[in-house]
Amino acid sequence: MTLPLHLFSERILFPDFEIRPAILHIQNGVIETITPANRELFEQWKQQVPEFEVEDLGDALVTPAFVNAHTHLCMLAFRGIGGLASLEGNVVKDLYFKLERNLEPQDVRAFTRLGAVEALLSGTGMVWEHYYFGDMLVEGLQDVGLCGAVASTLQDLDGPGMDRTDMAWKETFDLLENTSAHKAGIVPVLGPHATDTVSDDLWRKIAQTADEQNLPIHSHLAQAIDEVEWSWTHHTLSPMGRMAKLGLTDLEINKLWVHALYVGDDELKLLNPNFDRLGHCPAAQMQFGFPAHTNAWRNRGFDVLLGTDSPSCNDGINVQAELRFFAAGDSYGITMGESLRKFRQDPTLKRAKAVKEERQIIYDMRAPFIDSPVLLSALWNHPADLHPQAPVGIIEEGRWANLLVWDTNHPCFWPNTDPLQALAMANVTPALQRIMTRGDWKFDGKGYLAHRIASHPQVQAWQQEASERLQLLWKRAGL
Ligand SMILES: [Zn+2]
Repeated sequence: MTLPLHLFSERILFPDFEIRPAILHIQNGVIETITPANRELFEQWKQQVPEFEVEDLGDALVTPAFVNAHTHLCMLAFRGIGGLASLEGNVVKDLYFKLERNLEPQDVRAFTRLGAVEALLSGTGMVWEHYYFGDMLVEGLQDVGLCGAVASTLQDLDGPGMDRTDMAWKETFDLLENTSAHKAGIVPVLGPHATDTVSDDLWRKIAQTADEQNLPIHSHLAQAIDEVEWSWTHHTLSPMGRMAKLGLTDLEINKLWVHALYVGDDELKLLNPNFDRLGHCPAAQMQFGFPAHTNAWRNRGFDVLLGTDSPSCNDGINVQAELRFFAAGDSYGITMGESLRKFRQDPTLKRAKAVKEERQIIYDMRAPFIDSPVLLSALWNHPADLHPQAPVGIIEEGRWANLLVWDTNHPCFWPNTDPLQALAMANVTPALQRIMTRGDWKFDGKGYLAHRIASHPQVQAWQQEASERLQLLWKRAGL
């Protein structure tokens, strides 16, 4: 494993959202200890250790790397398909299925690499990944050096993976035994696809295995009207009602339910904030569904985690950019609301005041959740303990060393009045200088991370290979 590394910075962001000087002592990919130390103490301390083990980052801001709690990196290859969808009804589903049925394992590895590269570019150190060919996802992540909680998609009723359920199951267990992947920060989770593509028997097997192996469950839930309709038709229950009937909601194992668009307020009582987290993908939901009512979740004490979902629904994998939608997306409710509709028909002062009043009501609902630390917790503190074998998300002793180094003198932070506010709401990822996962700097060197990654010969070779594979895939799919 990696050599010991003693990392000093005058500005390290700790889980209480205070920025303090300290030395991080990193070994075997883990922050073993943290010594609070100002520069003077650091200068004295560093005399005791070999020079090559010490890095002085000066006053660069060091934060945890982000966690993207829901993505399908491989689907980066389908970016842009959304444009066609607007022209023709169901083209997305048809196209995805045609392409996914023709995917070869090495395609998944090649496309996942590029997804992982884009994730690193935006400061993501760990992804909650969910897709077919779990073994190739692991290879792709490992090639690039991105940490991942990998769900090899389990489905047995419908979808491109329905004929490979046994393989997906095997991949999950292979990863459980794969110590080299674990050292690289890649761990398994159980990945039922959704409620309407997984049978009762398979759900029960997943619940039992999760319990026996202490493995989290990561699933889509109540994402689309088809799923809701299928559930009522086949089980006379809502998707969440069926999960309760199958015992999933009583399971004292961490679960990540993503989307939950069609979940009633009373149904939330079926979940337990100690074990159930709700996953929100604002940009993707805005395009392919609608943004979930996250205030209803947060008012009931649930941690909300943010993901990008697939780059084909989102057109990007920058999870930091999701924060501003998360912060204020509900204000579009006013745009489409009754008071503005009436005002547009008859723009009187009285009606203008009614619009302002509605705006204030919606603002008051989100006001408790928009402080920068609260927002940033969705990418750091809240996913920190989601996987018992992957302690990430915050800078603390015993956690994986997944770190970002920022140049807050970069123009996109200027005038740098409030760096936390900038991290939550501004376009700051161009200011990333370095990224570390599991104690290793990735694509390291001088200058900015984005420049080094884009110009790296290995990345260019990966991109070339992925382009060639994509062309062949389109041909095989008859497109
Ligand atoms: Zn998804």
